[in-house]
Amino acid sequence: MDLGIRGRRALVCASSKGLGLGCAQALAAAGVDLVMNARGAEALETAAEGLRAAHGVAVTAVAADITTEDGRAAVLAAAGDVDILVTNAGGPPPGLWSDWSRADFLAALDANMLTPIALMQAVLPGMMERGWGRVVNITSQSVKAPIPVLGLSNAARTGLTGFVAGTARQVAGKGVTINNLLPGVHDTDRAKGLDAAEARRAGIDPAEARRRREATLPTGRYGTAAEFGAACAFLCSMHAGFIVGQNILLDGGATNATI
Ligand code: NAP
Repeated sequence: MDLGIRGRRALVCASSKGLGLGCAQALAAAGVDLVMNARGAEALETAAEGLRAAHGVAVTAVAADITTEDGRAAVLAAAGDVDILVTNAGGPPPGLWSDWSRADFLAALDANMLTPIALMQAVLPGMMERGWGRVVNITSQSVKAPIPVLGLSNAARTGLTGFVAGTARQVAGKGVTINNLLPGVHDTDRAKGLDAAEARRAGIDPAEARRRREATLPTGRYGTAAEFGAACAFLCSMHAGFIVGQNILLDGGATNATI
């Protein structure tokens, strides 16, 4: 399918690895020029060079922490007028409800709620003026089915979800869509880290922790970054203009909540 976005320009945050990279790859394959971001310059430049070589698109790499004001300013300055924004950042650490201080909550809110909101506030006016735009926020399955050990994530992403629910309806009339993609378990460093933590907790091998988690999924396997990226690229396509303010689960059927 021709996604109809060749020559468009996208900012994909936190995209040197994992789900962000999956989104950048799928957009590059559709002919979209990219601004990519991550904190670590080396992995970011490797990823950017890979996409230039594979797809012939222009890729600007900005090494910065997207959860800081300075980082966002540097990324937005390089991005300029973008047609597509994919927000993403690392997720907060797991823990117990009684562990977290006010500072822990503020850090999680900054990373997974206030950062995507600030990025949307920066790019939405231009998209609305030009009459076309696509925003995809990478959130989490925990928005629909909160995961007890991820209380910081549950709190921050719920706030972002509420903001998007209202804002998406306010900008849709200008040709701009905002939607959230909710990953369930995907085969990335983040998932490996959670498996390792569970392995330590249960006194088992990380491979065994993974096997047990895979067995809880209807698909019997983790999702891939490529599958996730393809869904993101479709939401950013010309075909997705009537999909507004949705929270779309990509979780292999794990969340059994039809209604
Ligand atoms: P990942 O494999 O660990 O990749 C994270 C990417 O984000 C890396 O490129 C990392 O590069 C970059 N990054 C992290 N913090 C950043 C920051 N502050 N500023 C700029 N770049 C940053 O993670 P993932 O699995 O793709 O997860 C992406 C998001 O989806 C996370 O919020 C995660 O909580 C959520 N999620 C993931 C899963 C899953 O199973 N994978 C499930 C539910 C939700 P640097 O470290 O170099 O900055």
